[in-house]
Amino acid sequence: MAHNSFNRRGFFSLAAGGAGASMMFSTTSTGAQDKPGQLPFHRNLPLHRPYDLVVCGGGPSGIAAALAARRSGLSVLLVEGQGQLGGTGISGLVSHWLGGRTSDCERWAVGGVFQSLTLEAVERGIALIPVPDPEKKYQPHGWYKGQLAAGIPFDPFAMAAFLDRKMEQAGVDVLLLTQVVDVNVDGQKISHVVLFNKSGLAAVPARAVVDATGDADVAARSGCPVVKGDDEGLMTPTSLIFHVDNVDQDTLDSYIHEHDSPRFRQLILDLREAGQWTFPYEIFISAQLVEKGTMMINTIRLLGIDGADGASKTEGMIRGREDTEQLLAVMRKHIPGFASARLKAIAPSLGVRETRRIVGRYVLTVDDLRKGAPFDDIVGYSAYGWDLPDPKRPSYNPSHGKRPEAAAIPYRIMIPAGMENLVCPGRAVSVERFVLGPLRVMAPCMAMGEAAGEAAVQVVRDKVPFGAVDTAGLRGQLRTNGAIVDWS
Ligand SMILES: Cc1cc2nc3c(=O)[nH]c(=O)nc-3n(C[C@H](O)[C@H](O)[C@H](O)COP(=O)(O)OP(=O)(O)OC[C@H]3O[C@@H](n4cnc5c(N)ncnc54)[C@H](O)[C@@H]3O)c2cc1C
Repeated sequence: MAHNSFNRRGFFSLAAGGAGASMMFSTTSTGAQDKPGQLPFHRNLPLHRPYDLVVCGGGPSGIAAALAARRSGLSVLLVEGQGQLGGTGISGLVSHWLGGRTSDCERWAVGGVFQSLTLEAVERGIALIPVPDPEKKYQPHGWYKGQLAAGIPFDPFAMAAFLDRKMEQAGVDVLLLTQVVDVNVDGQKISHVVLFNKSGLAAVPARAVVDATGDADVAARSGCPVVKGDDEGLMTPTSLIFHVDNVDQDTLDSYIHEHDSPRFRQLILDLREAGQWTFPYEIFISAQLVEKGTMMINTIRLLGIDGADGASKTEGMIRGREDTEQLLAVMRKHIPGFASARLKAIAPSLGVRETRRIVGRYVLTVDDLRKGAPFDDIVGYSAYGWDLPDPKRPSYNPSHGKRPEAAAIPYRIMIPAGMENLVCPGRAVSVERFVLGPLRVMAPCMAMGEAAGEAAVQVVRDKVPFGAVDTAGLRGQLRTNGAIVDWS
């Protein structure tokens, strides 16, 4: 495995006369002010009020971490770069929480925050728990009977407002449209998180930090070892998701059952031969959301985009919108049921499946998952399968053999090396990259986030590093709060 570590560190010193009010911040690496190609950049930063816990990133892992830590009494600031919480599920319009129920739709694999958010959202008509029709081979909420039908589709716009309310009720402070840009490291600890938003730069004193950016931004900026992609640095394709409504799902359903083709592979090959399909992928993936006729189109696969690189991500957005226009035209003309489909929304943020992963004390392996390796620090499960499309062949998704119904997630994979008060739940955990298949989906990310938030309580109250948390006590607390940490 290639180790591509990222060592840039901002450094701070208290500005003269400004203790408690501002800090001096430099973007240059320590002792490297005069290197060619670098600009020394010094500013006094206003100090934000301090928090027990700063959660960086408001996706599935970040929201669960914030809610869990606040529930246990910590003061929590949740910082999110986009204008809404929910991460890829809302800003990326991937509005379908997977991995939280077994593929037979019989059991929850993720409880706690995920389950309670789901049940409340269902009660409010924002989400639904699909009940597969036993008469049908394919199901509209993913067109597969198995793991996709076990997902929780939701309305992303209503869910964004719902999550705002949940944070407000819980007493979590939230900063939207705010980027975490750097950290101040003091020995083995992050002392401040540096933020940027419309008000400018600011430093937030933090006793513990959750890196829920999905890209290990905080870990990387703290100097923790990280890797990116495969051995060649290649990453699975990114996608720009769009939603359509006015779909004639009865026609779509009939075609899929008649041709036994939920992903339209043969139709696409025929269209390609006729010069009508020019995209580098040969699958069409659609899933019904809450209302019949409203569907998420998760088809576009953009190769060669690095979701942790600003310019590359910009290119992904632009190429993604071009593909959306072209794909929509092809859908209306050739895909049964979409003749009158209307574009409802294009995701405001690129869907990124893979970037950096931390290299922690333990790297969870594909083999661990296959054989159901025993761990004494399990904090959650994923009921989802192998799913990490090939970086060069976007329609090819390698399988890695049979694995238990629920893949166990040990606490240890969230601990980055080198920083005592930093924990990293979500899709940037310390795993072999194919382990991301089951773990990166949103319900398991919430399980990890909840465990990270609960672990922060010990870090703050007992002054222990995340790596020395009493995991038996943590599991007990999670169990008490309804999380699933045992499987039989
Ligand atoms: C195209 C696509 C389809 C998918 N399909 C599904 C599916 O159907 N179901 C499913 O369950 N999963 C699906 N996934 C996987 C899943 O959406 C993600 O892996 C999951 O959301 C990861 O959760 P996370 O909390 O780690 O990160 P994210 O969801 O990526 O959330 C991270 C959040 O942090 C914010 N952030 C990042 N950096 C910073 C920063 N520096 N400062 C401030 N904020 C920051 C981001 O804006 C974002 O809101 C899909 C992913 C993609 C890309």
